[in-house]
Amino acid sequence: MPQLYAIALPVPLDTTFDYLPPADSPTIAVGARVKVPFGRGAGRMLVGVVVAHKACADGDTATGLKTIAEVIDEQPLVDSAILALCQWASRYYHYPIGETLAAALPKKLRAGASAEPTTVTIWQLTVQALGLAETSLKQAPKQKAALDQLRQLGSVEDSQLKEHGLSRTSLKQLHQKGLVQAEQQLARHRQPPSSRPAPHALTEEQQDALSKLTLTHFNTTMLEGATGSGKTEIYLQAITQTLAAGKQALVIIPEIGLSPQTLARFQERFVAQIITLHSALNDSERQAHWLLAQQGVADIVIGTRSAIFAPLPRLGLIVVDEEHDLSLKQQDSLRYSARDLAVVRGQMANAPVILGSATPSLETIHNIALGRYQHLRLQGRPGGASHATIDLHNLCSETLQEGFSDYSLTEIGNTLAAGQQVLVFVNRRGFAPTLLCHDCGWQARCNHCDSNLTVHQQPSHLRCHHCDFQRPLYRQCPQCFGGNLLFLGAGTEKVEQFLGERFGRHKIIRIDRDSTQRKNAFEQLLQPVHAGDACVMVGTQMLVKGHHFPKVTLVVVLDADGGLFGSDFRSAERTGQMLLQVAGRAGRADLPGRVLIQTHNPDHPLFTTLFSEGYRAFTKLILNERHQGDMPPFAHLAILRAESTDPSQAQALLQLAKGVLNSQQPPNPQCQYLGPMPAIMERVNQRYRLVLQIKCSDRKLLHRLLSLLTPELHKQRWPKSLRWSLDVDPMEIP
Ligand code: ADP
Ligand code: ZN
Ligand code: ZN
Repeated sequence: MPQLYAIALPVPLDTTFDYLPPADSPTIAVGARVKVPFGRGAGRMLVGVVVAHKACADGDTATGLKTIAEVIDEQPLVDSAILALCQWASRYYHYPIGETLAAALPKKLRAGASAEPTTVTIWQLTVQALGLAETSLKQAPKQKAALDQLRQLGSVEDSQLKEHGLSRTSLKQLHQKGLVQAEQQLARHRQPPSSRPAPHALTEEQQDALSKLTLTHFNTTMLEGATGSGKTEIYLQAITQTLAAGKQALVIIPEIGLSPQTLARFQERFVAQIITLHSALNDSERQAHWLLAQQGVADIVIGTRSAIFAPLPRLGLIVVDEEHDLSLKQQDSLRYSARDLAVVRGQMANAPVILGSATPSLETIHNIALGRYQHLRLQGRPGGASHATIDLHNLCSETLQEGFSDYSLTEIGNTLAAGQQVLVFVNRRGFAPTLLCHDCGWQARCNHCDSNLTVHQQPSHLRCHHCDFQRPLYRQCPQCFGGNLLFLGAGTEKVEQFLGERFGRHKIIRIDRDSTQRKNAFEQLLQPVHAGDACVMVGTQMLVKGHHFPKVTLVVVLDADGGLFGSDFRSAERTGQMLLQVAGRAGRADLPGRVLIQTHNPDHPLFTTLFSEGYRAFTKLILNERHQGDMPPFAHLAILRAESTDPSQAQALLQLAKGVLNSQQPPNPQCQYLGPMPAIMERVNQRYRLVLQIKCSDRKLLHRLLSLLTPELHKQRWPKSLRWSLDVDPMEIP
């Protein structure tokens, strides 16, 4: 009776595949990776993960089955907790289990790289050296110096000898004398810090919040507090308790939030092994860090969204900072929400979950209202940050220069003259969003997308922000051959140039995706800001996350209206969150900040509510609208996207999907299918994008329908140029 193995393979089919073991193979562990032939004939070799052992009742069923070609792991690489999490995610997001597992693993491991953890050489003194007389090694002063240095340091990693002024030659000579040894150890992420600041004495409010956290078993807490209110300090102290109980902590931070300062704060606080998993790591580093977590070496894992899949055998706490942030949702392949998976994982591991934010998402506020999450609030500012005052500045019938009113410009000048800093928030990068012919009205459009080309000046060119198509700037209108071309609208570059002409004595620092591409560019650009020079920062959304600028006393939001009237049902929520976040960047107790919001709609109820009554009242207003419109969190959404070079193919796929849905559940007020319809930007990079929106009041019904629909879609043989994907709980409506 041969044993069979159910193997998850990275193919777009929602099933596992049975294989026979190699001859005389010992049992292969569930969670181990194997190489198997896949496809007709010899097929190709794929790396998969064993997800179950199967007994095979009779020999007949086994005939025709292929045999595992190679067993990669002797021990399971994917432990049972991660396997269970992936299985849950696969079901919830209706994404094939093999591809879900692939998405959860670092690229190199997915491709079959060895899971042997990286080891490093550590130099240490031997016992003989410890008892060495002060007078020995007189003839070898260099060796003596090296020995003394090593005695001071305790141990040194081979790669860091230079930093500590140690020569490898001297160490090798000492090694021959039996005074120094070189040992292979698991690569530790970092040497423990030499100085360790004491934790802050918590404020009464923080103490109260910390005492209300239950850290012994699963529960979810929303910790709400403005930037600077002391949330991170609470995470740190909660983690201290977790580590003291012999458990591990997982901290998820949005893409941009993992600044060197944040990391340094964790590293200074704990003797523990801290492992990072974020997008700035290269593939080898990512693999090495992941394996350290997998070996149980990590006490704390800090990372961006994919770290939610990091193996932590003794998981005791999950923190998700900035839980409202868009970057916690993966926008391609497995479209998961790291925040939602955090709650699922916490429940599976019976570990508490803390969600933190200054501006909680409406989903979380709804969960609090339903009694699912505990809600704690911090109102004070222990770090000394001030509450900024917010002015809605009416632009109607004002003369504008590059988007600024005279009043705003005067205020910027005054702030600089007082030796303080200004932050100007612009929501577009580049120079100008449109190149327009004043004579005939022609606009520079992208040939591949339904989009205008953006003018860039540094260096000078036109670029599409959707497909990255680039071309030289036009000198004359290609339609009427006139020379009267205008740069319409203002992006970060134009604002930078304009402010430079106007306030030339001061530094104007532009922070956007273009100016921060080089490694460390961000920190370098911010140097004058940290040095306290009077200057202006011009930036996009990038600037408002994870950084605090205590010397900024004036924030100008160039155009607040764009977001409020965006086409997405989440536009208003996002705009409110963004404006509060911008406001939270500025000032400290003795230098209070002020925020000037330029708007043509100063009386818009969303603005007035947000700024006179606060975020909570603002969210109530939006939740009301969502309730009336039957939108999330009151209804559950999924979006089926199809895209192709030929729009009729995408149309046909979505039409078929709608047919399947209609036959399972005719639409009714509780269950609606909207579309197929073109995406808001229908054509991107020569591909046409169409969507079908599926909305149900009942989450169970939605999932039942999706689990009937996706196998139908997988079954079809679609043309190669046609792609489809499903987004459950979408953050944006395409
Ligand atoms: P948040 O995470 O809410 O932005 P932080 O925990 O980072 O807030 O706190 C903001 C600043 O205040 C930090 O510089 C931090 O070191 C300091 N801080 C936090 N708690 C205290 C406290 N109890 N006493 C003194 N300073 C504190
Ligand atoms: Zn023209
Ligand atoms: Zn384009």
